[in-house]
Amino acid sequence: MTSKTIDINTLAQHGGSEFRVGRGLIGAVERSVTFSTPTLQEPPVYSRLGNTNNHRELESMLATLEGGDEAIAVNSGMSALTLLFFTLARPGDHVLCPDICYGGTNNFLAKVLTHWGVTTTFAPISEWNKALTPKTKFVICESISNPFCIPQDIASVSSFAKRHNLISICDNTFASPVLCKPLKFGFDYVMESATKFLNGHADVIAGMVSGSRAAIAPLRTSHSYLGTFLPPDQCSMLLRGIRTLKLRVDQHSRNAKAVSESLKVMPEVEKVYYGTPPNKDLSFTEGFGGMIGVVFKKSVSMEAFMRGFKLIKDVPSLGSTESTATVPAFTTNWFMSEEERKKFGIESHLVRFSIGLENPNDLIADIRQSLNHSS
Ligand code: PLP
Repeated sequence: MTSKTIDINTLAQHGGSEFRVGRGLIGAVERSVTFSTPTLQEPPVYSRLGNTNNHRELESMLATLEGGDEAIAVNSGMSALTLLFFTLARPGDHVLCPDICYGGTNNFLAKVLTHWGVTTTFAPISEWNKALTPKTKFVICESISNPFCIPQDIASVSSFAKRHNLISICDNTFASPVLCKPLKFGFDYVMESATKFLNGHADVIAGMVSGSRAAIAPLRTSHSYLGTFLPPDQCSMLLRGIRTLKLRVDQHSRNAKAVSESLKVMPEVEKVYYGTPPNKDLSFTEGFGGMIGVVFKKSVSMEAFMRGFKLIKDVPSLGSTESTATVPAFTTNWFMSEEERKKFGIESHLVRFSIGLENPNDLIADIRQSLNHSS
């Protein structure tokens, strides 16, 4: 199915249906680890190779949503990074990555890839020109940055990559294809933690990578041997989550906008990060999603505040139907030194909210009552 003219809500019901198993309204889950093929000449079907019909249906859906030729479903967002870099990077290569990004990405590049002779400079995107070396081969960024939740000027990143002939990767986890389609802006690869908004129900860990046929081809081979495949049950669960992706993300956006506006006028709040992309006419035409970064005043006891919610859950994940909140200094960015956290403003009074599908007035009341007991 082509994604050019069809609404994303329609695509989310029918994408990949050509690979559905059986004649049911939804595809049956193929739990068998392997299948015999009609002739000896055909390649083996073995679940670890990611080539059952469940994989094909999900991957076709993902490619359709992201606007890629192909997609690969993997078993976590981190596996998407593993697959990309362990396939494409070579010893001596250099990566440019924003200084503020998801902690797992930072750790993977700084603490794992470095042992394979691949170095990374973490610097603000505006300073990448200075950080560029003859060895630079990759740029990676997030369409909405973690943990502050600020939309990024991904068009500039993509044109920087093109100008310098670099492989460009955009992590679209916070935005989802409903809000942003990095491939449209010329990125070579879009990747996501499908654990978050794509699945949306906090019951599947998964990831994905999409791009052109030529870009995906080398990943497809190494995917077979890296063990990054997503089990068929999880493919089926993820497909179910995707059916309501647009409805959920639209509501997440509406709710987060309402909550962010209330937060802005609360006396205990120092700063709210929501929306305001660097370049308004670019990617975010349908809202800014469910993620809000909030800096509270030092007078707020964060221990009492985070434990005082009656509805919002104090957990580090995001993108679910239920609202969640986390203090990145103690979760996603725990690995940073105190000086680094200070430098970037990722201190103990920064809270990252993932606004769910509840009535926003109930969420605002929950934040208000918890603040009343915390300051
Ligand atoms: N990218 C971003 C922006 C994330 O927030 C996360 C996880 O929180 C990941 C990647 C990694 O995803 P996963 O937990 O599915 O491995």
